[in-house]
Amino acid sequence: MLASRYFMPTLKENPSEAQVPSHIYLIRAGFIRSLAAGIYEYLPLGLKVLKKIENVIRNRMDEAGALELLLPILTPAELWKETGRWDVYGKELFRLKDRKDADFALGPTHEETITDLVRKNVRSYKDLPLNFYQIQTKFRDEARPRYGLIRGREFIMKDGYSFDVSEEDAIKTYEVMKQAYHKIFQDLKLDYLMVEADVGAIGGKFSHEFVVKVPSGEAHIVYCEKCGYAANVEAAKFHHHKLPPEEALPLEKVYTPNVSSVEEVANFLKVQPQKVVKTLVYKADDKFVAVLIRGDREVNETKLANLLKALDVRPATSEELQNLGLVEGFIGPIGLNLPIYADYSIHELYNFVVGANEKDYHYKNVNLQRDLKVEHFYDLATAKEGDPCPVCKEPLKETTGLEVGHIFLLGTKYSSAMKAYFTDKDGKEKPIVMGCYGIGVSRLMAAIVEQYHDDKGIIWPDIVAPFDLHILILNVKDENSVKVGFDIYEKAKSLGIDVLLDDRDMSAGAKFKDADLVGIPNRIVIGKSLNEGKVEYQRRESQDKTLVELEKVEELLKSLVKR
Ligand code: ATP
Ligand code: MG
Repeated sequence: MLASRYFMPTLKENPSEAQVPSHIYLIRAGFIRSLAAGIYEYLPLGLKVLKKIENVIRNRMDEAGALELLLPILTPAELWKETGRWDVYGKELFRLKDRKDADFALGPTHEETITDLVRKNVRSYKDLPLNFYQIQTKFRDEARPRYGLIRGREFIMKDGYSFDVSEEDAIKTYEVMKQAYHKIFQDLKLDYLMVEADVGAIGGKFSHEFVVKVPSGEAHIVYCEKCGYAANVEAAKFHHHKLPPEEALPLEKVYTPNVSSVEEVANFLKVQPQKVVKTLVYKADDKFVAVLIRGDREVNETKLANLLKALDVRPATSEELQNLGLVEGFIGPIGLNLPIYADYSIHELYNFVVGANEKDYHYKNVNLQRDLKVEHFYDLATAKEGDPCPVCKEPLKETTGLEVGHIFLLGTKYSSAMKAYFTDKDGKEKPIVMGCYGIGVSRLMAAIVEQYHDDKGIIWPDIVAPFDLHILILNVKDENSVKVGFDIYEKAKSLGIDVLLDDRDMSAGAKFKDADLVGIPNRIVIGKSLNEGKVEYQRRESQDKTLVELEKVEELLKSLVKR
């Protein structure tokens, strides 16, 4: 490809709306442009990278035995109503009506559509197992589209769905997909973690996320360097350190004027913050509940929502607390007229402090069972750095990451709701056992840039680079430079190397800037050393330049073919 004929609109300045390196560089280097919030155009360079990422995924999915198909983007509301997700999905679902006033949605994911296809075409255990995938544009009206391709409203996903006759078989398929995912992210040279994840709105039995380590990532991960345990904080467990047992002291109601935060109460009463138990009121769908948790821990709303099987959990507002007759800052479990859920952190806690449900008063030396009956304890706390690993008790580490893949063992949630049954060997009708497997294809393009860039631009790993080789003719007015440049260009093409030749009439400085920005992994520069019969060769990631004699260029090109 000749740069003079190509469309590569590079920018000198950082776009003002871009905050993270991938967003900045993909725009500046001419890979993408924004059409509207969270909606992007893939320019020729961007599309080339996207296709290469898709191919890595396609190869590994095909190798694992999954079958590619393509489902419609428009999905009828009836299907969403069958599973209840027409209501559950909320505002993220782009909804529209056809000319006959029938409701449709632009697919944000395709469990309903694929389950419909399978129920109409699968009858017996002999038709199973099946494992399908597609690579397709998805639509989600995200509340906060941001960071360029990282969180779009229109984006490209690989979504896959498996159908098995038993949970045992479904788990085997899930394992095969998990291994295929590892290969994909390794092929893409990403530094990633596979973490245990929450099943969230998609539902199901268990799930794993594949998370790329980047500072701007929205996923919070804890992991153990010793045994390899890793989980999204929404799902992370940890080993609970118990405080030493104590003799129970007499219960006391104490005057604590204007003292209400954990820190203030601990200071005022001269106790450790761990001895102050918070009573937090939440609204879970349409009911209120109270959570008891140690003062040094935070409630994890996802864990609480899962426990209560609630779709929406949030702290009660001041107004709601008032309506419940509660005194904000002094709420406590003794005499509280709400369902109480106690976190493990207060199990075996002695002589602790709680609010007294009265302005400016707390109870001191509270002891379980004597002063407060609690029958069950639940894991409701968010894991944090330093907590003991649930597997080996080594202190956990915390990091942020970007979710690029998510796999779920769905079980029969969708097949039961949509009556996707098969007849088993024993003649019985059973729901098909499903799994689903997503990869954010367009987000991956951003994730790669997040991990592969420097202060000058992108450094593409060879496997996804838009071109293999960039040839720069520094002075296009010099006939010999042009001749040598085109000779190498033709030779490279004949060897099957995808090459971009910078034949534009521009300054050498501007050409180098563009080359660094665009990030093609191999570069041959035809410049001053041509007088000595040499060209310069450089890898984008290194500062080292090698002078190569013209007779040796073919050898160099052949070595690039092997990369
Ligand atoms: P997130 O928590 O980031 O919103 P999700 O859990 O909603 O992700 P899934 O429904 O599991 O995502 O979708 C599969 C994959 O699609 C994700 O792992 C992610 O890589 C990608 N993805 C999801 N939402 C977006 C988006 N708005 N823009 C780009 N990629 C996305
Ligand atoms: Mg989401």
